[in-house]
Amino acid sequence: MEEERVSLMERPDLADLLMTVMERDILPLTRAGVEAGNKVFGAALIDKTTGRLVIAGTNNETANPLWHGEVHTLKLFYELPEEDRPDTRDLIFLSTHEPCSMCLSAITWTGFDNFFYFFSHEDSRDAFAIPHDLRILKEVFTLGPGEYARENAFWQSRAISRLIAQAPEDERATLQERARAIAAEYDRLSALYQSGKTGNAIPLN
Ligand SMILES: [Zn+2]
Repeated sequence: MEEERVSLMERPDLADLLMTVMERDILPLTRAGVEAGNKVFGAALIDKTTGRLVIAGTNNETANPLWHGEVHTLKLFYELPEEDRPDTRDLIFLSTHEPCSMCLSAITWTGFDNFFYFFSHEDSRDAFAIPHDLRILKEVFTLGPGEYARENAFWQSRAISRLIAQAPEDERATLQERARAIAAEYDRLSALYQSGKTGNAIPLN
């Protein structure tokens, strides 16, 4: 019985769970979001102990440029009835992309002690043609890439690629294969977003 109480954050199948949530819960929302002209970034909140999905969300910048995947997911979370809303300390915060400075602050202000991300800030700049995360960190906070505190008094953050690299050797190739398939789907969605964004009214597109 003791094992059931072990936080998923300490378990070796965490990378598997996080990629399942991306494939099953976030990507369908993001496909629809990109069709409607929104960026590809998404997020999900997951119960630390059971792995149950509490809520997933995706970028909704066409409604409000502050509705990044993470902040929009938090907005939806706080619209849940209070009895359906676990303590944020009991949740895993999953972000498809390493959060920008606004979303780092939002995760902090809402009391999460962790977040996990699939793509890095550098991926957002280089593979997704979205340089704003790194530009804002540099221009506003004078921080270069990787210079914010990835572990601090509020939270610990981890790249899913790091979880995969640390997975048992016999599972690693399968996880890497899944990660490649997820990245390929995001490539496709990013191309769709980039091809449709000319002429939209988003300040930083
Ligand atoms: Zn953000």
